[in-house]
Amino acid sequence: SEFLLEVKDLRTYFYTEEGVVKAVDGVSFQINHDEILGFVGETGCGKSVTALSLLKLIRTPGEILSGEILFNGEDIVKKSEDEMLKIRGNSITMIFQDPLNSLNPVIKVGDQLAEVYLLHQMEYLEDELVKAREKNKRLKENIKRMKKELKTGSSAGSETLKNQIKALKEQIKFRITILDIAHKESAALLDRIGLPNADTIINRFPHELSGGMRQRIMIAMGLACNSQLLICDEPTTALDVTIQAQILDMIRELKRKLKNSILFITHSLGVIYELCDRVAVMYSGNIVEYGKVEDIYNNPKHPYTKGLMAAIPRVSKASRESELMIIPGMVPNLIFPPRGCRFHPRCDHAMVICKKVNPPLKDMENNVQVACHLYDEDKSDPELYRKLTE
Ligand code: SF4
Ligand code: MG
Repeated sequence: SEFLLEVKDLRTYFYTEEGVVKAVDGVSFQINHDEILGFVGETGCGKSVTALSLLKLIRTPGEILSGEILFNGEDIVKKSEDEMLKIRGNSITMIFQDPLNSLNPVIKVGDQLAEVYLLHQMEYLEDELVKAREKNKRLKENIKRMKKELKTGSSAGSETLKNQIKALKEQIKFRITILDIAHKESAALLDRIGLPNADTIINRFPHELSGGMRQRIMIAMGLACNSQLLICDEPTTALDVTIQAQILDMIRELKRKLKNSILFITHSLGVIYELCDRVAVMYSGNIVEYGKVEDIYNNPKHPYTKGLMAAIPRVSKASRESELMIIPGMVPNLIFPPRGCRFHPRCDHAMVICKKVNPPLKDMENNVQVACHLYDEDKSDPELYRKLTE
């Protein structure tokens, strides 16, 4: 299949006492091989529900009503729970916002992390084991050679030689197992994500760590799964800006190494700009703008996207500021969403047609797609295209 993931007209609804919550209401998008797609939007726009749908983790009263989720060409929607158990954490892994619910409280974090390596990166561990054993062999050969030298050589310098032998002997590790390698990799990963004293952290239980540390361990575990698709749902939101930047760097670096794909969900356009190749802007259960990050960042077309851009300080890539988006007006009720374009009560450009017809996503230049009547081709009916505020 051309795409790693192709979602077609996905609808995920929740049946509550108050009414049907149309959390995801006709969403289509693709994830290419070796790319990071960003989902951006306010709380409650359907980003997380879309992500949970991809793993079939929607629970009652929710349901995937219709649509297709083609992963490597196979429809996730049609898979049984048994089949999903094989997919989750293997070919698709999701890093959640809440690490306490995802880590096992009675197992030391180092052991949990090592287990992830054993489950998902056995081949890599085996290669590393071979390398470690070869290193041992070389050390032993060197020691043997030096001992010979010690016997035959003059007594001058023998003290130095003895010390060298001693130093080499200390480097030899007896009976290296795959588990040792898994632990070593885990500690190295914790080090890479900026956790100080990785050696002591791996011996702690989750409750003995701070929330920020747990969050970083979750991200490390997600990355260690080596999945074709990694879904990150606001994994850095609770962390401070410096650590956030460190983690984004780490995700980028590991992505380069693993050549996998990532769906990164965030409310921050700054994060999207730093990390992602393409972006889908979500509003009230729909994608309203979709395309390459650069195109959309440089030339946003949808009034909502423009609002997101205007509401944030224009941050340079270097400054790594995190920003809050503030767009006037209320986030729409998903049970009784506004008729027509759901953004119309908050839109400065709203026209008569916007109250009547929900605009479909439409192809623009550069493969950008936008759902907005401002870009309708036929505007011949002046009554429909009259601005509401005029
Ligand atoms: Fe605004 Fe109309 Fe475009 Fe919706 S369709 S964003 S209301 S101009
Ligand atoms: Mg969410």
